[in-house]
Amino acid sequence: MRFDLHVHTTLSSCSQLTLEEIVSFAGAKGLDGVCITDHDTMAVRQVFKEGVQDNGLCVIFGLEYATEEGDFLLFGPFEEIRPGLAAAELLRYVEASGGVAVAAHPCRRTRSTRENLIKDHLCRIVESVNGRNSHPENKQAASWCQRYNVSQVSGSDAHALSELGMAATRFHEPIHSRSDLIRSLKNGSFTAERAAEEGDTVTGIPSSRGHEANP
Ligand SMILES: [Zn+2]
Ligand SMILES: [Zn+2]
Repeated sequence: MRFDLHVHTTLSSCSQLTLEEIVSFAGAKGLDGVCITDHDTMAVRQVFKEGVQDNGLCVIFGLEYATEEGDFLLFGPFEEIRPGLAAAELLRYVEASGGVAVAAHPCRRTRSTRENLIKDHLCRIVESVNGRNSHPENKQAASWCQRYNVSQVSGSDAHALSELGMAATRFHEPIHSRSDLIRSLKNGSFTAERAAEEGDTVTGIPSSRGHEANP
């Protein structure tokens, strides 16, 4: 199943992408699922129903939490997180609560992630392809994954319909709910799609965790 793990709706002040657009057009962009990761809020839960929609699209709620030491996509059995936590404190809280964290665009020139958080495995999943990053920024993030032996995912970081699905992650197990997504992220059964380069078609990054059985 092809999921865009990093999508902003108009609940993020910087995004023009509406929930209606996401649900209507995600399938046409080759997506089976979309994670709503607005900046520092899960307010989407007040205006939308999480889970598989009538058209088959799976919509899952998380958030993108900003810290001084980097931004994190968070998915967990929580509906909000107290703001202002330091990165290490936040990551320990997410882990202890049974959730999972992804370092968002860790090597972006602005809002980069403190490298030690990855090195010390406080966060074990890195967004090595971010649809809004430059190619060198994504390349550097991928090199962290090799060096520190952490998993990699892709997300578009869409703030507009044209960006939705431009980067995505393939899951090797069916995902119908937030708990399915968290389980798959924890057990590593996914492959990050490589970013498209000019004259290139999008393909998966080879994974040491086995071959994709069910694209
Ligand atoms: Zn934004
Ligand atoms: Zn974002």
